[in-house]
This record gives sequence, C-alpha cells and structure tokens, in this order.
Amino acid sequence: ELSVVSYLRDHVAPLLVGTDPHRIEDTWQLLYRGAYWRRGPVTMAAIAAVDVALWDIKAKVAGLPLYQLLGGASRDRVRTYGHANGADLPELFDSVRARLAEGYTAGRIQTGVPGLKTVYGVHQGTAIAEADGVAGAPRLDQTARPVVEDWDTRAYLRHIPTVFEAVRNEFGPEIPLLHDAHHRLTPIEAARLGKSLEPYDLFWLEDCTPAENQDALRLVREHTTTPLAIGEVFNTVFDYQTLVGEQLIDYVRSAVTHFGGVSPLRKLFDYAAQHNIKSAIHGPEDISPVGMAAAIHLDLAIHNFGIQEYSGYTDRTHEVFQHAFTFTDGHLHPGEAAGIGVELDEEMAAGHPYAPAYLPVNRLADGTVHDW
Ligand code: MG
Repeated sequence: ELSVVSYLRDHVAPLLVGTDPHRIEDTWQLLYRGAYWRRGPVTMAAIAAVDVALWDIKAKVAGLPLYQLLGGASRDRVRTYGHANGADLPELFDSVRARLAEGYTAGRIQTGVPGLKTVYGVHQGTAIAEADGVAGAPRLDQTARPVVEDWDTRAYLRHIPTVFEAVRNEFGPEIPLLHDAHHRLTPIEAARLGKSLEPYDLFWLEDCTPAENQDALRLVREHTTTPLAIGEVFNTVFDYQTLVGEQLIDYVRSAVTHFGGVSPLRKLFDYAAQHNIKSAIHGPEDISPVGMAAAIHLDLAIHNFGIQEYSGYTDRTHEVFQHAFTFTDGHLHPGEAAGIGVELDEEMAAGHPYAPAYLPVNRLADGTVHDW
C-alpha cells in the first residue's frame, strides 16, 4: 500500500500538474508507456487511481453518472454474490442463511477442512495479523508478522464435494453457488475438483491454479464442465491473452483498482465478449468504495456482465466514503450522482491512520511454504 502512495505522490502526480484532465486515454498511455518499466501491481494500482479520478472529473463536468458516459445502462441493476463461510457444516449453513436474509441471491461457499486448523475464507477477520493500533502518525510495526495457516490438498479434495452435496440438499438447486480454491491446486488436482463438483452445478470454480501459468487452465478445461473464473491478481490484458483467446475460462475477475482503471478494464471486457466470456469484478472489503463504485458503473454499462462480488463494508468505511451506490435485494446500483458518486471525507479519514497488516501465509504439514 505504501509503495502505491509513493509511486503516486513522488512519480505520477508531478507529471499531471498543468495537464488537461479531459485527455483520459492520452494520460493513461503516458503513465503506462512513458514509465518504460511497465505493469506490476504497484504501477497499475497507481495508474488506476488517476484513471478513475479523470473519469470522475469528466462525468462531473458532463453532469452525468459515469455509466452514462460508458454507453448507458444495459440492465436495471447489478447482481452480486456474498461470502458464506463456516468452520463446519452447521456454521456454514448459518452463514448461508444470514446472507440470504441480507438479500443475497448467490453465494461463495468456503468451509473448514477436517484436520486443518485454518482455511482460506473462514474466520478471515481473526486470521489477518494487525499491528496494535496506536493513535497518531502512521508507522510501520516491525514486529508484526503474518499468521501461518496450514494446508493439505488431499484432505481438501476429499472434503469439498461433500460440502457442496450438503449445501445443495439443504438449500436446493436454484441458488448459484461459487467456490474459491485460491490458487492452491496443480492443474490435474484442479481438474479433479472441477469434475467432482459437476453434480452440484457450480456457478464457477475460482482461481483453481496459481495464476502465473495461463497454460495450466488448458488442462483443467479439457477435463471439466465446471465454469472457471480467474484474474483477481492480474494487472493487464496480457495476463489474459491465452485464457481469453483460447476461451479457457468463463469469467474475468480483475478489479478496476488493480488493472489500471476503468479504461483498460472496459477494453478487457470487450475483448472477453468476443470469446463468450463474462465479467466478474473482484470486490472484497479491501477494494474501497471508490474502486467498488467505478466497478458498479462498468457492471451496469457493459453487455457481457456476469456477476459482481460484494461483501459490504464496515460502518466506519461507509462514513469515510460517502457513496451514491445502493445495495438492495442482493443487487447494486451506482446511483444517479454525477461522476462515480463517491465523496471521501478526508478529515474523517485522517482519524483512521494507516495500520500495516499482512495477509496470512500457508505451510504444509512438513513446513513447506504453499500458495495462500
Ligand atoms: Mg478470490
């Protein structure tokens, strides 16, 4: 996070002073091509911040919500899925019921695995190491270390189909169910999981293999009809070239925030549309309401919209980022405010200084580091 701040403040902002904010494409190309050392999460997050700001300015000048500048609404509202998590089946069922009560009409199912202490997506809040919050200036706590989780692929592959069987028996065939393997499987393991989940009619299997290797998905695709989604850690369209060009996936998962902004994500969706692939913008809580609002405008405007991940925000986040977008009956709408429809309360934000935190890491029973 601090690297992105530095990239923006020290390298990008000086280039923008005195330039025409209406030249969105030219500014994007200048920041991307002009830097020579292209791509990467830090660079693309910084460019995204500028791109979203420029679209916000242009839409405000026009007096229109951003989606109108992207071609207008292609649908009335944007369907979302929520997160249902549980250490065991009773806890998971309670979580599914809670999401349904909140209005969600689709859910991502993550569950504990017998024999493992912790699993991705379950009790996430307590698994993230946070430095002790001290009021005052942001600081780096050098003593903070990632929580270490454990992993056993064979136990996971045995357990997950039984979970989906139980969820289907309890909640019926209608509700779209998703599952995130979080890049932990080899291609043949992922193929086996996709195959074993086919009777439970998943909406998608997400991030089944480590994302660096696009060729891996070819093998998975040959063996299963379970739909595949990937891309939340991708930064440019080039990360998708094989996947989209050969139609090896069904959903592209990149977020406005990490993909260089609204401009390149719109181009990715148009490229994906030519290959019958739909959008599914990454939307965990650490995508701020700025990134979420930009996403919802795109979701409403593009034709090949699939679904939007949305796990809501804390009350503090809603206070700091006042937003026009609404969440009703499991669906989002960007609202009709000019621009992206988010106002940042900088004074209130200053009351919540940056606190460094690590995501967990993952080790096998013998201590080997595994993908988290
Ligand atoms: Mg994911």
